Amino acid sequence: MPSTVAPVSFDDTSIAFSSRSDQELKRIYRLFWLMNLGWLTHLAKYVVPLAIKWHLPVKKWIRNTLYEQFCGGETLEEVMETATKLAKQNIHVILDYGVEGKETEEVFDHTASEYIRMIRYASNQPNIPFIAVKMTGLVRFALLEKLHAGSTLSVAEEQEWEKARLRLEHIVEEAAQYRIGVMVDAEESWIQQPIDTCVLELMERYAHARGVLFNTYQLYRIDRLKLLKTHIQLAKEKGFVLGAKLVRGAYLEKERRRAAEKGYPSPVHATKANTDRDYNDAVAYCLSHLEHVSCCIATHNEKSCLLAIQQMDEQQLPADHPHICFSQLYGMSDHISYNLSRHGYRVCKYLPYGPLEDVIPYLMRRAQENTSVAGQTSRELSLIQKELRRRKL
Ligand SMILES: Cc1cc2nc3c(=O)[nH]c(=O)nc-3n(C[C@H](O)[C@H](O)[C@H](O)COP(=O)(O)OP(=O)(O)OC[C@H]3O[C@@H](n4cnc5c(N)ncnc54)[C@H](O)[C@@H]3O)c2cc1C
Repeated sequence: MPSTVAPVSFDDTSIAFSSRSDQELKRIYRLFWLMNLGWLTHLAKYVVPLAIKWHLPVKKWIRNTLYEQFCGGETLEEVMETATKLAKQNIHVILDYGVEGKETEEVFDHTASEYIRMIRYASNQPNIPFIAVKMTGLVRFALLEKLHAGSTLSVAEEQEWEKARLRLEHIVEEAAQYRIGVMVDAEESWIQQPIDTCVLELMERYAHARGVLFNTYQLYRIDRLKLLKTHIQLAKEKGFVLGAKLVRGAYLEKERRRAAEKGYPSPVHATKANTDRDYNDAVAYCLSHLEHVSCCIATHNEKSCLLAIQQMDEQQLPADHPHICFSQLYGMSDHISYNLSRHGYRVCKYLPYGPLEDVIPYLMRRAQENTSVAGQTSRELSLIQKELRRRKL
């Protein structure tokens, strides 16, 4: 039996924007229109962090635009309202403490305790099955870089790393106890190896809490499809379920720039077509090995989602298979999330929260991703236009 009654279409804007009023849609339209201006977004990337630092009066403007669109609130309690709205559409949440770029031991301890607070909070909510964790929220970037490079650590650095690993382990332990999944983000390629190793070790150690921990695979990296297959094989041999969040990757320009500056071959694919091929192959591989892998198909790419659905149909997998979920970022691609959810697929929105000034790097990445160059925005704009026209009629 195929898993869906009617073929999924991402063009149904009445479903995609069912929770948005006309006024909200017009506000979102204006925001995406502005982000579509590549030069403005590029300028904002430099000007906004400076304006915040110099206490210029930009916060109100950011709060009413980017923050409102891409974040759930300043505190866990504020996120509740957004999560409840999503729950009404049967959409789940991956809760993300969006604070980035602060690097002291006190901040790392605070972030770790915030993650624990998130887990306990999520365990009392019906639609928050996951939290997202960033390793650079728990340890210095430079230390990860040293570990990745295989450099010898001083005794103090060894202790620092041990402390960071314990922070993550404590989070996973708590998550296993409260049955909340933990998705560890993938970051720059030159710090990724210690993150992979640490997450894999914990997955094996917490094999009894099946699928509690997810690693992230960036398929724009040339070596990741092979690594994913190796990890699935390892999971099979050692008897645990690999948690795999599949993304294309968010640091393309940065990866290429660093490789060119330092004179090593770029670790990312040379073309978008190659990234797309590896992404779709990774999804297909996971869907054929669901006994050993639980996968989160994290993408705004319609074609990748449709291919996944097609394969699920061919393999006669139910839409709500416990080892498959689709995920999009909050504020983006609601036409995918809402239509998938309406057809019974498991959908999670990645929902960041945190004090406005601390989530600026995240907001700037979203703005960047939504420029005309990145190509996502024109689709959002045309869908909103279509829905406004439909409502008028
Ligand atoms: C729920 C969720 C969680 C995420 N978590 C992470 C994370 O942990 N780590 C992370 O790095 N990113 C993460 N991302 C962001 C993700 O990596 C992508 O940047 C973003 O989703 C855009 O890719 P896409 O698959 O949605 O769509 P598309 O718009 O189809 O693809 C855009 C992506 O393709 C790749 N690409 C574009 N042009 C080229 C080119 N010329 N050559 C090669 N490749 C190219 C880039 O990766 C680019 O981001 C996450 C995204 C989602 C939805």
